[in-house]
Amino acid sequence: MSIAKNIEALKNNLPEEVTLVAVSKTKPIANLEEAYNCGQRVFGENKIQEMTQKWEALPKDIEWHMIGHVQTNKVKYMGPYVHTIHAVDSLKLLKEINKQALKNQRKINCLLQLKIAKEDSKFGLSKQDLVAMLTSEEVSQLSNINITGLMGMATFTEDKDQIKTEFQKLKETFELLKNSPLPHNTKLETLSMGMSGDYPIAIACGSTMIRVGSSIFGVRNY
Ligand SMILES: *Cc1c(COP(=O)(O)O)cnc(C)c1O
Repeated sequence: MSIAKNIEALKNNLPEEVTLVAVSKTKPIANLEEAYNCGQRVFGENKIQEMTQKWEALPKDIEWHMIGHVQTNKVKYMGPYVHTIHAVDSLKLLKEINKQALKNQRKINCLLQLKIAKEDSKFGLSKQDLVAMLTSEEVSQLSNINITGLMGMATFTEDKDQIKTEFQKLKETFELLKNSPLPHNTKLETLSMGMSGDYPIAIACGSTMIRVGSSIFGVRNY
């Protein structure tokens, strides 16, 4: 199977309102070009340095999404170009993103990560902390970020019911917050959930953005 065929097959089965983030981490530029040439414009990476090298090498109409855990001191490297940061899980990080966006006279979209998995290894905010952050005075004063939605990762398991339960929890929190009074820089439209192994379940649970790597580019060799 080719990358172009994989993308085509994926897109044919996606509801119109679901955005496909092509997760190209560890893959060479040539692979991204192949995806680009069949119309893919949204790419996801989890290392800032690698993403920046790819941004420099590729056409400038690509939307770059940082999907990995971000260290505050590295935000500056992607400040000039990053479109959306998916796994925001602290006020400190949000403030640094705002600072770097301001420095570059632009706005950066942020998704807050809710911890839905049972594994300890997965990052993310508890529902309580997420709500507290969203409604805090400090966050409402950040002028150069847009909080555009929520993101989550389900437990890595074969148990489809468990995955479904976790995605449903994320969707419920999303709907609850969407219908609450929120600050001017917050408009919850994006629900980023679903990867190669679980995106059909995520879509059934209301995902609007899936992050798919290996089903497009093949397995990764680290
Ligand atoms: C790597 C990664 C993905 C894509 O994983 P696949 O299983 O290859 O589709 C999605 N989301 C995050 C946060 C990732 O790190």
